[in-house]
Amino acid sequence: MDEFVKSTANLKQAVPLMIKYQIPTTPTNYALWYTYVAQTNPQLNQAIDNSISETGVCSAVTSEQLYLKHLASKTERDSEQVKHSLEAIVTELQTAAKDTLTDTQQFHQVLDASFSELEKIDNDGLSIDEMVALVRELVKNSQQIGKSTQIFREQLTDAEKEIGELKGRIEEIRKEAYEDALTGALNRRAFNTEINTLLSVNAPFSLLIIDIDFFKNINDNFGHMFGDHVLKSIARRLAESCKNGETVYRIGGEEFAVLLPGRKLMIARQFAESLRRAIERLNIMDKKTNQRLNSVTASFGVAEYVAGDDDHALLHRADMQLYKAKQLGRNRVMPMSL
Ligand code: GH3
Ligand code: MG
Ligand code: MG
Repeated sequence: MDEFVKSTANLKQAVPLMIKYQIPTTPTNYALWYTYVAQTNPQLNQAIDNSISETGVCSAVTSEQLYLKHLASKTERDSEQVKHSLEAIVTELQTAAKDTLTDTQQFHQVLDASFSELEKIDNDGLSIDEMVALVRELVKNSQQIGKSTQIFREQLTDAEKEIGELKGRIEEIRKEAYEDALTGALNRRAFNTEINTLLSVNAPFSLLIIDIDFFKNINDNFGHMFGDHVLKSIARRLAESCKNGETVYRIGGEEFAVLLPGRKLMIARQFAESLRRAIERLNIMDKKTNQRLNSVTASFGVAEYVAGDDDHALLHRADMQLYKAKQLGRNRVMPMSL
């Protein structure tokens, strides 16, 4: 069956099920129930069937959990986990704060009671023993309150530490989501986000698309590992050269992009020219194998944002220029300077 027709048919089956089991129509739930109907994930189907046969429903919470367990990406699961940990800490702190507060209130009650006892001195006269007992009681209670405040303080310190660690983890997850694992450059996903942000502000900016020349030959002659090493070296060189608001992305196997906020075409072209020379000057050596690559070059396509552009239009113009650069013999920037 035609893929589109099949997808539509699956969705048509999924929606009544979601209504039947009162599942909120969120994107994740659509994904979950679509997969259920498509029967492409037997474990997921088994889990849903179990939940329904045990409880008669598949609650929003169960759906969420099933989504995370069976369909979510690692990044999604990690961020979800971090969110839960943060929530747990906050709940713990609230309970601890409440306990301390209760202790304080109880202490106030004891104090009030003690003062009315003390007033008896005037009226009935308290014995020394009674006085001592009263004071002891007060001291004991004040020690206890001191202790619970201290425990709370310790809990706060612990929580602060844990929150700090979790923040670090969030930062890592964020990085994983936007960073290319091989080269450390920003990845395609980051590029898509950033180019759309720039497009949304309707201010001048330019885009470079960089494609390494004859990279397949490098792989063929020196091996894939060395190829990876070359990609890393080029990414590093690009990053070193992009220090004034320009950002470098690895948008494909041996393709990079640079976004230049605020730069018009001519400036962007000159900048591309400097990057081209920087790559050409690279002398790449693989320490493990002692292999040396004396020449690696790249071709550049440059395009400037024009009002009304969307990302496809702008990328297409840069790609066309890159294509011309390849056609004209590679190791060059297009369009040519005027
Ligand atoms: P051109 O000058 O026309 O761009 O030629 P080319 O050989 O660079 O272009 P082509 O598209 O034919 O080959 C690109 C090669 O890049 C093919 C692919 O094996 C290689 N490649 C893509 N990603 C990676 C990677 O992560 N590591 C390595 N080592 N090679 C990669
Ligand atoms: Mg390519
Ligand atoms: Mg290439």
